[in-house]
Amino acid sequence: MTTSLTAPAALTPLDTGYAAAVAPFVTTTTPRPDLVVEARSPADVVAAVRWAGGEGRAVTVQATGHQLLSDLAGSVLISTRHLDQVRIDPEARTATVGGGARWQQVIAAATPHGLAPICGSSSHVGVVGFCLGGGQLSRAFGTGADQVRRVRVVTADGVERDVDDTREPELFAALLGGKTGFGVVTEIEIALHPVTRLYGGGAFFPGEASPQLLHAWRAWVTTLPDESSSSVALLRLPPDPSLPPPLQGAFVTHLRFAHLGTAEEGAAILAPMRAVATPIADMIDEMPFAAIDAIHADPTDPMPIWDDSTTLGALTVDAVDALLAVAGPGVETPLIMAELRHLGGAIAHRPPREHDAVAGRDAAFHLYALAPMFPPVAAMAPAAARSVIDALRPWATGGLPNFQGPAAGGRLGALWDGATLAFLTGVRESYDPDGMFRAVGLR
Ligand SMILES: Cc1cc2nc3c(=O)[nH]c(=O)nc-3n(C[C@H](O)[C@H](O)[C@H](O)COP(=O)(O)OP(=O)(O)OC[C@H]3O[C@@H](n4cnc5c(N)ncnc54)[C@H](O)[C@@H]3O)c2cc1C
Repeated sequence: MTTSLTAPAALTPLDTGYAAAVAPFVTTTTPRPDLVVEARSPADVVAAVRWAGGEGRAVTVQATGHQLLSDLAGSVLISTRHLDQVRIDPEARTATVGGGARWQQVIAAATPHGLAPICGSSSHVGVVGFCLGGGQLSRAFGTGADQVRRVRVVTADGVERDVDDTREPELFAALLGGKTGFGVVTEIEIALHPVTRLYGGGAFFPGEASPQLLHAWRAWVTTLPDESSSSVALLRLPPDPSLPPPLQGAFVTHLRFAHLGTAEEGAAILAPMRAVATPIADMIDEMPFAAIDAIHADPTDPMPIWDDSTTLGALTVDAVDALLAVAGPGVETPLIMAELRHLGGAIAHRPPREHDAVAGRDAAFHLYALAPMFPPVAAMAPAAARSVIDALRPWATGGLPNFQGPAAGGRLGALWDGATLAFLTGVRESYDPDGMFRAVGLR
């Protein structure tokens, strides 16, 4: 059964299909919008926004559900997950991507042309959500936002606009990093790069070696060229039979590395880290770009978790010791992961436009903590994740919009400096004077 919205049809919580249409990847919060509209064309998005405007309803947007900032209560949720078409222009080296497509669809379409997009650690994540939040991983090519050439967005007045650096440039600049509150993106055009192979992967070391590894990593990353990206995570893995036996239920240090260059160069750059300890498994080698998920090996099944994060201005010896004190060997904690990502390189380069809404450009590292929200440790998860962030508070500089979850309490405003936040607020007020899209994330 569907309700009688004029167009398009919407599902209420009583309708079959509602639960599937709102389902998030992080299942800690159950989304409960009043209505969900599953858009199957940009015209559906226009119709839904015009209807919501006429009714004075708040509108929220979801593509893959990888980031839920609130339970969406009281809103009309527009799901873009069916807007997942991808077109490649091999001459221009661009991909034109629907508002609900995932990176894996872009990778699959671009690979036969010898091209690759600048995605994050998981290709299951949505292209638009990643780019609107900045999108940090590649020190070689910069942020996801930096790859965007054009955006088609339905604003609160129900108009679908094509915006870029010359057409409505302020809205374009605000979308690229401002994350939320501007409209529903129906299509995005991004740059692709001639990358088919890289030297990369992950190596698992014993958790007990984490003090030596983290201290060595801290010094080693400062020597890396922009072509090399790396992160390191302290993982307390579940006793999952799908994992290789030495990793089941193990406490490990996971070193991740990607180098855009030859295997010889990559191996030479990595050699000092390989010399620190004997790995349980070393899977870093030359690999096709299309296998990029293997580097971080992020989970692909929905699950309830609590996460917390911060950017860091520096990673000193004391900062590493502070991290080890809350997540290192011998610590009893429900944490699944405490992760450090090396930022900088091209991520730090501002694009040549007046306004740059990408938060955290100046940060040197990103710290992320994650704990499971299931019994018997669920009640301890928020405090465990917070303890990691609190331990490195002296080096904290802010945060990245893409890594905000329930711990942010819907408050993203503090992630931008005052001038950038004032710019974003001005653009939001100009395109959405009644606050239709301001239901989440903007306090
Ligand atoms: C396993 C995993 C790995 C990750 N790795 C990285 C990483 O390496 N680097 C990084 O920067 N981030 C990373 N992220 C974070 C990720 O980029 C964000 O969670 C992003 O918002 C996901 O977008 P989505 O569309 O998949 O999720 P959704 O939950 O569907 O969307 C999240 C938000 O994005 C906005 N949005 C999405 N689609 C649209 C649209 N069509 N129009 C308007 N607004 C839209 C909305 O504000 C929405 O609330 C990772 C997340 C996970 C779960």
